[in-house]
Amino acid sequence: MLRRAVLFAPALLLARPARAQQRLPVTASFSILADMTRQIGGERIALRSIAGPDQDAHGFQPKPSDAAALTNAAVVIRNGLGFEGWLDRMIRSSGFKGALVTTTDGITPRMMQAHHHHGHDHGGAGRRHNHSVGPRQVPDPHAWQDLGLGQHYVRNIAAGLVAADPGGEALYRRNAEAYAARLAALDQWVRAEIARVPATRRKIVTSHDAFGYFGEAYGVRFLAPQGVSTEAEPSAAEVGRLIRQIKAEGISALFMENMTNPATLQRIAQETGLRVRGRLYADALSAESGPAPTYEAMFRHNVSLMVPAMRGDAA
Ligand code: ZN
Repeated sequence: MLRRAVLFAPALLLARPARAQQRLPVTASFSILADMTRQIGGERIALRSIAGPDQDAHGFQPKPSDAAALTNAAVVIRNGLGFEGWLDRMIRSSGFKGALVTTTDGITPRMMQAHHHHGHDHGGAGRRHNHSVGPRQVPDPHAWQDLGLGQHYVRNIAAGLVAADPGGEALYRRNAEAYAARLAALDQWVRAEIARVPATRRKIVTSHDAFGYFGEAYGVRFLAPQGVSTEAEPSAAEVGRLIRQIKAEGISALFMENMTNPATLQRIAQETGLRVRGRLYADALSAESGPAPTYEAMFRHNVSLMVPAMRGDAA
């Protein structure tokens, strides 16, 4: 309950008593980073997330009140790799003087086709690109979808908190070590689950290509109709091509995601006779009452849906 209050009630943050031990004000750009930071900072930090559960952090439109979350923060946690162009603009205009932690620092990003993603700020240095841009290669920002890289995020976040609040070092390091160990165990579980799927069936159709790192880490091929976006529909030819591929390769795993428009996926389901096997969480967590309120729960939820769907099990 407390962590919910800390995340979603900025008034609480402002109202903290000055004589109590001041908690370190930390702001995360979106829900997944907020959860990771909470696991490490615990009660020692006062945490805010700018983009909340089920909110698309790509095309996020910050409100004027979100600027206060930056102005008052000692530490801002962002993903980087062009994921949060809106945040970079906010930082420039907010007079933010704290420490900026980029969780993907030190990661070698995989590359993706710019036009293959939806019309948001990926790799665009704050410039919105669209489908007329062509197959330009940009860094894929969705590195959290690999639990090995998730452990790298944990190290970067912990280092950032320690630098800003050296008095909390022992706590941050202890929490970070325990958390990284849980993520390593979860990574092994994901691998064991995927191993239950015959290699030729490790294919998933989903609505936007957020799972490139997941695919590389765990040996699953993800297909998304080219041009699928919250803002632009793929052409009939693109959808037709994907439908032919689904039929030719006997793909049975068809999914929606929590922040994207389901219309195209429903059309593919109709024309292939496949059932949409549920909703994957890609770029945002669910609300506390949903199936993926934490980064760890997101993996358990996604993989628990993916495996029977790829196997073609009746569900
Ligand atoms: Zn995305």
